[in-house]
Amino acid sequence: MSNSIKEISLSGRKIEVSNKEMTFAERIYLPGILKGMGITLKHFFRPKNTIQYPEEKREFSPVFRGRHILMRDENGAERCTACGLCAVSCPAEAITMVAAERKPGEEKLYREEKYASTYEINMLRCIFCGLCEEACPKEAIFLTQDMAPADYIRDGFIYGKEKLVMPLEEDSRVDNSQKG
Ligand code: SF4
Ligand code: SF4
Repeated sequence: MSNSIKEISLSGRKIEVSNKEMTFAERIYLPGILKGMGITLKHFFRPKNTIQYPEEKREFSPVFRGRHILMRDENGAERCTACGLCAVSCPAEAITMVAAERKPGEEKLYREEKYASTYEINMLRCIFCGLCEEACPKEAIFLTQDMAPADYIRDGFIYGKEKLVMPLEEDSRVDNSQKG
């Protein structure tokens, strides 16, 4: 190989490697340790980017899509009519439900004559795309700004109605402008 090819350095950061004997300090890694300590000290006094989650929470973007909520109407009745459009539109096939017929006397519980006796979302499959929210003709399902919490078992990620339906006393998790 000619000398002219040997000298080519495309990045401009070519370092000549020499086989010179290491000094005593180099043999006990002193320059490397001091350099490392210098980098550590430099970062020690810089503003920290890490946050102490869950005590400290990062502010999400206004368009962040988190866990779902099944809405109630102004009288506290469940809005979902188990039409299945959310399940059909879900690209991850994360939604399953069982429809049931409302019985006389249950008008205060369910707004429509048909309701979901079982409604489940598999949070391990969900990609939080929001298509279920878009597809719902009853404004019954919304994605909130809450994160789906971690769990130790897979079953813990199957969210049934007990986790999804809006608690009666709480309707502040979704922006009021979203409700019909
Ligand atoms: S957010 Fe998307 S992936 Fe998740 S349940 Fe709704 S449609 Fe399916
Ligand atoms: S959440 Fe909406 S789209 Fe899904 S089954 Fe209920 S009413 Fe239909």
